[in-house]
Amino acid sequence: MATAPVSMEKLVSLCKRRGFVFQSSEIYGGFNGVWDYGPLGVELRNNIKAAWWKDFVHRREDVVGLDSGILASPRVWEAIGHVEHFTDPLVECRNCNSRFRADQIDLNKNCPTCGKKDWTDIRQFNTMFKTHVGPVEDTASIAYLRPETCQAIFTNFKLVQGATRKKLPFGIAQIGKAFRNEITTGNFIFRLRELEQMELEYFVRPGEAERWFNYWLEHDLSWLASLGVRRSMLHLYEHPETERAFYSARTIDIEYDFPFGRGELWGLANRTDYDLTKHTKSSGEELEYFDDETKEHLVPYVVEPSVGVDRMMLVALLEAYDEQPDKEGIRTVLHLHPRLAPVKAAVLPLVRKDEGLVKKARTIYDELRAELPVQYDETSTVGRRYRRQDEIGTPWCVTVDGQTLEDGTVTIRDRDSMEQGRFPADEVLSELQRRLRQPWTRPE
Ligand code: ATP
Repeated sequence: MATAPVSMEKLVSLCKRRGFVFQSSEIYGGFNGVWDYGPLGVELRNNIKAAWWKDFVHRREDVVGLDSGILASPRVWEAIGHVEHFTDPLVECRNCNSRFRADQIDLNKNCPTCGKKDWTDIRQFNTMFKTHVGPVEDTASIAYLRPETCQAIFTNFKLVQGATRKKLPFGIAQIGKAFRNEITTGNFIFRLRELEQMELEYFVRPGEAERWFNYWLEHDLSWLASLGVRRSMLHLYEHPETERAFYSARTIDIEYDFPFGRGELWGLANRTDYDLTKHTKSSGEELEYFDDETKEHLVPYVVEPSVGVDRMMLVALLEAYDEQPDKEGIRTVLHLHPRLAPVKAAVLPLVRKDEGLVKKARTIYDELRAELPVQYDETSTVGRRYRRQDEIGTPWCVTVDGQTLEDGTVTIRDRDSMEQGRFPADEVLSELQRRLRQPWTRPE
């Protein structure tokens, strides 16, 4: 497949046209930093989250899940230092009032908006969204929308450990929305104000944090590879001490070569015992671990792999997008991993006018639909219908033709190789399920 860089314009247009991603409030001129996910988008996102949950929670003995509130006591954010420090450096152009993140532009250069050079001093801007809880809007009713999902994992640490009796090392995972009042948004779903994160807090003995840090780095990279993300598109960026968040002893970003430049996809941090210690001090509740065997009380260290669902979705789409010239022009294909593909198969009667074919095709469709997300399409030529499915990444097309009525077989066409094989109609479901379980390799 082509490995030339995909243009964002093409991808954004495909996402809109086929119902993956829509601009929020488009009929009102849009709303910055928020996108809505359409019928195929929601399926792709659910598949990404399900794949992560399966591989980071269900397939492991040492990780359990949590689903906490987006709102929490404001004391959580005070304790952890976010009310003071969850900030980005803000700089403003005095001439045109455009605002930028000071670490994302070159202040020796002129303003990218108006071309003048008249910068204000840099000030720290808190990116947590504030709201009020209850009917009175005063300082006592302030609450924050969580800017990261992990804090409730720390505040619930003792409850989860007590309920599950997990022994170190073990992890607590969570997938959920987070909100950041980013100074500038953009690059499609890369930088959002409403985002979703998949976070794992992995609790270890303090002396073992470095070893687990390396383990999770390898694990995250292999997970990306298993979904078809090319290693050559990924880069590791180790934060120097001066850049690290105040709670982190070590941070590596897994960056991806986006069409608009290199950017963070996944963060991996050794958060030490910072969070548990802060919450212990602030709440008076000892968030520690008691080792039955050694009879020792200890505050675990935490290694945190954290990835955004939206950025993962963007990477999956960019890695999948391909254009192949063919007889009829350009064939656009999304080579999505079948695990991630929003629609697993499409059932197509070769000709719409043949009642027998249509009836048979609908029977197969009904049978498949009970188990898998599938589509039925009988409009226009079969070639066009294949293309429509290729464009949304459907891995297999099941075609019902004249021979089906004679010998009960149908063809299954593979999106990547475009090869077709005949199978008895009543074995299609098991054949698709078999293929879905098989490892998948990205076509070269
Ligand atoms: P950046 O440096 O790009 O602002 P960050 O270092 O603040 O990101 P983390 O706090 O490490 O990001 O968040 C973990 C993950 O959550 C990121 O790797 C990214 O995938 C996702 N994420 C963070 N902020 C955003 C956002 N504004 N929009 C979409 N995804 C985000």
